[in-house]
Amino acid sequence: MPVVFVPHGGGPWPFIRNPLGAPDELNELAGYLRSVRSLPKKPPRALLVVSGHWEEPVPTVMTSAHPPMLYDYYGFPPESYTVMWPAPGDPGLALRVQQLLAPLPVKLDESWGFDHGTWSVLTHVYPDADVPVVQLSINETRPAAFHFEVGKRLAPLRDEGVLIVGSGNLVHNLHTYAWGRHMPEPYDWAIRFEEAAREMMMAGEYQALIDYETLGRDAMLSIPTPDHYLPLLYVIAARQQGEAISFPVEGIDGGSISMLTVRVG
Ligand code: ZN
Repeated sequence: MPVVFVPHGGGPWPFIRNPLGAPDELNELAGYLRSVRSLPKKPPRALLVVSGHWEEPVPTVMTSAHPPMLYDYYGFPPESYTVMWPAPGDPGLALRVQQLLAPLPVKLDESWGFDHGTWSVLTHVYPDADVPVVQLSINETRPAAFHFEVGKRLAPLRDEGVLIVGSGNLVHNLHTYAWGRHMPEPYDWAIRFEEAAREMMMAGEYQALIDYETLGRDAMLSIPTPDHYLPLLYVIAARQQGEAISFPVEGIDGGSISMLTVRVG
């Protein structure tokens, strides 16, 4: 299976509003996401999603067979609080994740559902909600190296028919984001950081991406909090030596949210 990192924009907005009114890169993303279904020769048996919107003190996997919907945002249009996406869970996959990460303690959680990092993207990929999905939490107080290590340990799932998906944004600065205003030009620092990160990914320079806090002002403005960045580390950690990496969608939305989509394999 390939591994993909998908951007999910500022809140559920990009996927709730009329898609025809969305900026080009969002339409492009929607098109790419629809094509994700046919990425592998055989459809994935299940998806493991690492969403930047699920924070727990220790790695936690969702074990519910019928995960509920979570509308984990505030102040969005009423229709964004009624979206249903009844994909099944996969308790067996949750146990397999726990086994792969051992001896690292992994908590099983029966109550967590699909947060918008998962459903706002996957409703466009699997509109029939016909693939089992399990979420794995992050913990932004743990170092980036910890998340990279967890991603490496998950890589064997690729041979077991599981599509690993990281959901976040490489550049995610909501303080400078143009909410509902005229689309501004992307900030210089956002373009520079996106370009630098892309080159590092292509060159396999993961240590620099793990040590992103040492990369200077562009990185700090692009990653004011690590929650949307950390899911990317799981994706690059699962890349095998010499394996292809590509960027099927690019562009910056609202000046400071990167739509860069990363595909490994
Ligand atoms: Zn988000």
